[in-house]
Amino acid sequence: MKTVIPFNDFAAHVRGLRPEIEAAMARVLDRGWFILGPEVNAFEAELAAFFGVPDAVAVANGTDALQLALEAQGIGPGAEVITSPLTAAFTALAIIKAGAVPIFADVDPDTLTLTADTARAVLSPKTRAIVPVHLYGHPADLDPLFALAQEKKWVVLEDACQAHGALYKGRPVGAESGLAALSFYPTKNLGAFGDGGAILVGDAEVARVLRQLRNGGQSDRYHHVRTGINSRLDELHAAVLRSKLTHLSHWIDRRRHLASLYHQALATLPLRLPVERSYARAAYHLFVIRHPERDAIAAGLRQHGIETLIHYPIPLHLQPAFARLGGRPGQFPVAESAAQQILSLPLYPELSEERVLQVTDALREILAALREPNTSSRS
Ligand SMILES: *Cc1c(COP(=O)(O)O)cnc(C)c1O
Repeated sequence: MKTVIPFNDFAAHVRGLRPEIEAAMARVLDRGWFILGPEVNAFEAELAAFFGVPDAVAVANGTDALQLALEAQGIGPGAEVITSPLTAAFTALAIIKAGAVPIFADVDPDTLTLTADTARAVLSPKTRAIVPVHLYGHPADLDPLFALAQEKKWVVLEDACQAHGALYKGRPVGAESGLAALSFYPTKNLGAFGDGGAILVGDAEVARVLRQLRNGGQSDRYHHVRTGINSRLDELHAAVLRSKLTHLSHWIDRRRHLASLYHQALATLPLRLPVERSYARAAYHLFVIRHPERDAIAAGLRQHGIETLIHYPIPLHLQPAFARLGGRPGQFPVAESAAQQILSLPLYPELSEERVLQVTDALREILAALREPNTSSRS
């Protein structure tokens, strides 16, 4: 069956923005300055203003943003860093790149984010930081995590790579902790036409260190005071991101509107729907349903020409890349059972309301057939 509703539609996305993107790119080409220049400076200031934080440091991608944020806080070899097993593997890879050891902790059954209780269950005298992931754009409950971190003198680094535009108790994620990593991978709520990332920073000294670390550890040209890396953002991407940032609030509203249509249309079906806690205004990076027969539902939707994805099918403690950390099946029951049941439905600003209802109609049909296996096998 040919795809009728793709999981993402970048052609439509670009079509709507093309004139302003071309103008932004032309500005860079005319200026002839391509790395860490006026566009990056302006983007950093505009991004910080959007999030209501003192500063933002642009880097090459979200993984580097996480790694450098930890390094700028002095977290490296010998340190343990608590994070979620239900996230992009890049979260844990960044911790390893910083020289620290990721320690996984189970997640809340509703929000699928870390909690203070699950973190307490895995802490050790070596724990130095905690990296809550605002999965699918739903903020983790930060206040109990902040309280625990303060008690233990841990650094809190928010992985907000999926949560641009999400609010926690009325304030953007990243604002309270003063340390958050963003990704501008094309599928993210604010995406470049390539890789990009940033760290939201509350502390001026940390921002100064980050600007050195992202550029080879230089304090001044050819003066290397730290073993930094090359994680510079280029001017073309900064110019594109500046242009797209002006649409972000509107895009989040649109995502939330489409998510509310999904919620309304699916409310009476035997599915587990995303939970938006009272403290949160979710940014709906993804709309993720849960059902024990997830694979049959995904196959049924594919029959209707509807694309879905799974974020993420294998919890990190069970991935070969992290085997040396000693993870075993059954260790994190909530994350493991979620990984078997989650299914991401199409959700992006360019998606029409009609198509959302096409998806929900298809789901209703598929679920009815699942409940009457005899009818479905004959059809
Ligand atoms: C996308 C993502 C990352 C990594 O960002 P990149 O820009 O791809 O390096 C890290 N954590 C989460 C939760 C993400 O969604």
